[in-house]
Amino acid sequence: MSIEYRVGGIAPSVLRLARPGQYQVNEKGYYGEFGGAFIPEMLYRNVAELREKYLDIMNSADFQEEFGRLLRDYVGRPSPLYFARRLSEKYQTRIYLKREDLNHTGAHKINNTIGQILLAKRLGKKRIIAETGAGQHGVATATVCALMGMECVVYMGEVDMQRQAPNVARMRMLGAKVVPAMSGSRTLKDATNEAIRDWVNHPEDTHYIIGSVVGPHPYPDMVARFQSVISAEIKQQLQAETGSELPTHVVACVGGGSNAAGSFYHFLDHVSVQLIGVEAAGKGLTSGYTAATIALGRPGVIHGSKTLLMQTEDGQIIEPHSISAGLDYPGVGPIHAYLHATGRAIYLSATDQEALDAAFELTRLEGIIPALESAHALAKLKDLQLKPEHVVVVCLSGRGDKDMETYLRFLPADDNPTTTEPYS
Ligand SMILES: *Cc1c(COP(=O)(O)O)cnc(C)c1O
Repeated sequence: MSIEYRVGGIAPSVLRLARPGQYQVNEKGYYGEFGGAFIPEMLYRNVAELREKYLDIMNSADFQEEFGRLLRDYVGRPSPLYFARRLSEKYQTRIYLKREDLNHTGAHKINNTIGQILLAKRLGKKRIIAETGAGQHGVATATVCALMGMECVVYMGEVDMQRQAPNVARMRMLGAKVVPAMSGSRTLKDATNEAIRDWVNHPEDTHYIIGSVVGPHPYPDMVARFQSVISAEIKQQLQAETGSELPTHVVACVGGGSNAAGSFYHFLDHVSVQLIGVEAAGKGLTSGYTAATIALGRPGVIHGSKTLLMQTEDGQIIEPHSISAGLDYPGVGPIHAYLHATGRAIYLSATDQEALDAAFELTRLEGIIPALESAHALAKLKDLQLKPEHVVVVCLSGRGDKDMETYLRFLPADDNPTTTEPYS
């Protein structure tokens, strides 16, 4: 199977839509009522500069050439679209896995950090900052900073630094400075506050790399475009494999929503394609320990944009819970709030236990250990009423190496490979 890659470049349609689609952000930065840029005045200059320049830079031939070349030679794209034969037999349908787990650094996040660092260079920036929770985005950012020889500062909650020590070590080895956020609960939101404070103080020379389709406009749109390489490839690969570029279903897990946005992007205007996002239900939707933002959230403002978020009656943000650190976020990208509101995509949720079961199932059926995040998407195959004539694409957003400690705690007994120890 051959993917049409120009020499060192990707098809321009990856970054540019031929016409403004119904589900794209508008000029004001909104998806319906969601999105916008709710920022302190101190940040206005930084965000305005980005908003005025991002599309021109991304659409320039020079950018496309360098981005395409790095995606190919450094990340290892196109990532394979793998027909999962034994998984398909089990669910009596045709299931393809989009193998983002095979990317350099083991997940889709690198697509976005490569794009943003190339953009930062063209904006004349010398220094990169980021915030990270589980450390995955921090590692992806530290990686591209090493690649480009740029100074890198990653803010991380002090509690998270202890919980995610291996990722802290990776970032340091890559040359990044990891700064502990010591305020509040010493987790992601405190790290975000520190990063914003840094950006306010260094508007001239610093670019802030946000890791998902969240934050003030233009971040959600920019990140979705960088990740849209996923669905651009799926289309070409499906065409070669099945004779049609359209699947019947696309399924992806949703934390902030970037791998889902990238997987959905080029199918948004093809309404025959059922788009399915899967959130983390944690210990259950009504348990109080959940990260199912779309299921439970109400409109509010978080990290600079209006979206759905989990909040109390008086607007306090509720601490999310998920067994997978990458889905543990109280908000969701505004594009998903909008796709949900319009019914263009549906959003399901999978519990910690369902994700664990799905991870063990994929491992035993296909020899692929998925990231716990991706396992949430796999967990809903059983609920989709799939038929033999369906063509289902599941985005395997990352690999499971980072989750081995968790998996080991629940490893099925040898004599009974289909069940796991109950999770509590
Ligand atoms: C970070 C992460 C996610 C969640 O982020 P999105 O922006 O929702 O894609 C999902 N899968 C993996 C492997 C991750 O590292």
